[in-house]
Amino acid sequence: MKHVYTHDNIAVVHSAKNILALNDIESFVKNENTIPNGARHGIENTFIELWITNDQDFDRAATIIEEQLTNPPPTPPWHCSKCAEENDGSFDFCWKCQTEK
Ligand SMILES: [Zn+2]
Repeated sequence: MKHVYTHDNIAVVHSAKNILALNDIESFVKNENTIPNGARHGIENTFIELWITNDQDFDRAATIIEEQLTNPPPTPPWHCSKCAEENDGSFDFCWKCQTEK
C-alpha cells in the first residue's frame, strides 16, 4: 500500500479515487471519518489521504492524479438555458438563477 494523494476536501479526494477506479487502480481513503466538525480552519485540520492498494500502480496513479487534479483541463464557460447568463466552467449551477447546467 502506498500513499498517493492528500487533500483537506473529502470531495476532491473521492473524485481522485473515482478517477483511479476508472483506470483500474484500486485505492482507499483514510481519515475520512476523523474530521472534527468546526475545526476545519485551524492547524489541526485533518487531511484526508488517498492510498493505493497495489504498490506497482503507484507511478501510474501519481501521473493520473497529477494530470487530472493538479492541472485539470480548463472547462469552457457556459450559458444558462434559462437566463442566458454566462457561467464559469467550474459551476454546475447558474450563479444567478440556480438553474442546473
Ligand atoms: Zn441562469
